[in-house]
Amino acid sequence: MKEILYRSTRGGFSGVKASEAILQGLAEDGGLFVPESMPVLDVKLSDLAGKSYQEVAYEVMKLFLTDYSEEDLKYCISHAYDSKFDTAEIAPIKKADNAYYLELFHGSTIAFKDMALSILPYLMTTAARMNRIQDEIVILTATSGDTGKAALAGFADVPGTRIIVFFPDGGVSPIQKKQMVTQKGANCKVVAVKGNFDDCQTGVKNIFNDKAMKEEMAAGGFRFSSANSINIGRLVPQIVYYVYSYAELLKRGVIKDGDPLNIVVPTGNFGNILAAYYAKSIGVPLGKLICASNENKVLFDFFQTGAYDRNREFMLTSSPSMDILISSNLERLIYRIAGNDAEKNVAMMNALSNNGKYEITDEMKAQLSDFCAGFASEAETAQEISYMYQNADYIIDTHTAVASYVYRNYRETTGDTAPAVIASTASPYKFTRSVMTAIDEKYNAMEDFALVDALCELSGVKVPAAIEDIRSAEVLHTSVCEISQMEETVKAFLSL
Ligand SMILES: *Cc1c(COP(=O)(O)O)cnc(C)c1O
Repeated sequence: MKEILYRSTRGGFSGVKASEAILQGLAEDGGLFVPESMPVLDVKLSDLAGKSYQEVAYEVMKLFLTDYSEEDLKYCISHAYDSKFDTAEIAPIKKADNAYYLELFHGSTIAFKDMALSILPYLMTTAARMNRIQDEIVILTATSGDTGKAALAGFADVPGTRIIVFFPDGGVSPIQKKQMVTQKGANCKVVAVKGNFDDCQTGVKNIFNDKAMKEEMAAGGFRFSSANSINIGRLVPQIVYYVYSYAELLKRGVIKDGDPLNIVVPTGNFGNILAAYYAKSIGVPLGKLICASNENKVLFDFFQTGAYDRNREFMLTSSPSMDILISSNLERLIYRIAGNDAEKNVAMMNALSNNGKYEITDEMKAQLSDFCAGFASEAETAQEISYMYQNADYIIDTHTAVASYVYRNYRETTGDTAPAVIASTASPYKFTRSVMTAIDEKYNAMEDFALVDALCELSGVKVPAAIEDIRSAEVLHTSVCEISQMEETVKAFLSL
């Protein structure tokens, strides 16, 4: 099998093994690791039809993570996709109205980030062993809600790792906070910071870049790593479910081998939809990749005009995990359509950080034909939730509703009726208030857990353990710190 090596989109590194790229997260030149060449799926999709999620995961991940042994990779997969998921299917696909909803929310925090964050700790600790790294891996994360909990759940009690999550005090929802401060695991630390999300993020970056801190860490037998969505170890596991979807719909006879399958993704950082693009690149005959945005429609505008411009008002929406103006994973696509030219990419990324915008050339734009884009306003998102409930008896969350609305619009305006998979990125139980009030305003008067019970009654879907557990869970993390105390807090936790 062909060895796949990685290089940085900023040109500073090449020939990097997958395990090294996973340990580093972001490349030291500030770039993102991309495969130097795309592997090709070496099994027929018809042979994958009927295979389990774990089996498909192995066939896909082995193409990208070529320095992992079969035994190691199978170990990582079987420990990640196990009974932490509330269904043996791992990623069930439900037909509702005119589309197939790929439910990526059956993991421990009931959002799609579990798909990657339940395997990343295993990929990382295996990578450390392969590279003879004795140090304990310390994950530092700043979170505005979802990523923190998914990372905690993934790394909790994984030997050889510690995880510290900083969240803005008062800047996350009560349910999100409760999810984090009740996290069990001796290697976990959760800290509220007296600041906003940007303060947390900057604080974490400063700790990462502090040379003295790095030396102290090394002396104490620790090294930092990052679990955020630019890590190639998060992207590769996400390719799996697009391959799995194609194989599953083949099995059901919805498509025949070679037929196009459209993919719709509610997008923020551009990680999930990029994984679909990679699935298409390795040979899965996917059709259009439809990028769905909420009112922060910077990506929609980019696909329309070729200009990426973050200079605009930041909107707080009911789909907060997509409230993003800098989609960091887009850099991987820019690099590729620039002909894998690091210099061109760097020029655009510098323009983005200096002026908040850049524009791609017509030649680059011509390579975006796999994609199309749409967006949904807050009213349209709520209307879609209500429509799906009334007409298909299927309750979707706000993020999924953005994609569902964009797809409905796409289908009507283009007449493209090829089967479509909609990435369903969160359980409606994670955004209960927005979901229930979209169905009926009267629910706004109810308190959080009463709404949970009402949703259960309406949907007939059992309350997930992730929600049930926090009703009564004990608060285990009460630390609060000033922005200036973040580094001290890390040191204290590591006894440095
Ligand atoms: C993170 C997230 C998204 C956005 O995914 P990206 O990979 O950042 O584009 C969408 N929906 C939910 C529920 C999420 O948590």
